[in-house]
Amino acid sequence: MADREKATGDLGLIQAFVNTVDLMPLHEQLQDPNTLQAWLVANGLMDASHSADEADLKHAIAVREAMRGLIGGNSGVRVYPIDLATLTKAAGESRLRMRFGPDGRPRLEPEASGAVGAIGRLVATLYAAMQEEGWERLKLCSSDPCRWVFYDRSKNQSSRWCKMASCGNREKARRFRAKNTSPRRGEVSA
Ligand SMILES: [Zn+2]
Repeated sequence: MADREKATGDLGLIQAFVNTVDLMPLHEQLQDPNTLQAWLVANGLMDASHSADEADLKHAIAVREAMRGLIGGNSGVRVYPIDLATLTKAAGESRLRMRFGPDGRPRLEPEASGAVGAIGRLVATLYAAMQEEGWERLKLCSSDPCRWVFYDRSKNQSSRWCKMASCGNREKARRFRAKNTSPRRGEVSA
């Protein structure tokens, strides 16, 4: 199985957004309002004539981490009410409304413009992604310091780590150490 599997479509966009930070080793893509603005424009969520400020950056990161928390539910992690409240608030602030598109299909679109609207568009994308069949395959890496979002393509939907070679082995070693105070060399490498 390939490492760090990517989803496509709405699921893929949510995955890409949550993975704008790599927690291990730490690499933050959304470093400042300008990089946020560039990311939103590059992903078709906002017109390039709009800018983003520090408050938008803070808002985007809060929503991103709330989405990470929600996705954790697909990996058996408890979803915290604060994350759900953050997403509800973001939907409200962007004033998501249902509109029927030219194709006759309804979708949620923000009335707010700028970065707040763009973040609302991400929440609408999350809503659409959650209706898709593959939603439950979008998971968080179970290695605690990693928490990367990966798409579980395994047949029985049982993958737990974004990368077996690093995260999977690190986690197995950690559990082994927790169980055995003095592990013998060689036993934790499988
Ligand atoms: Zn991982």
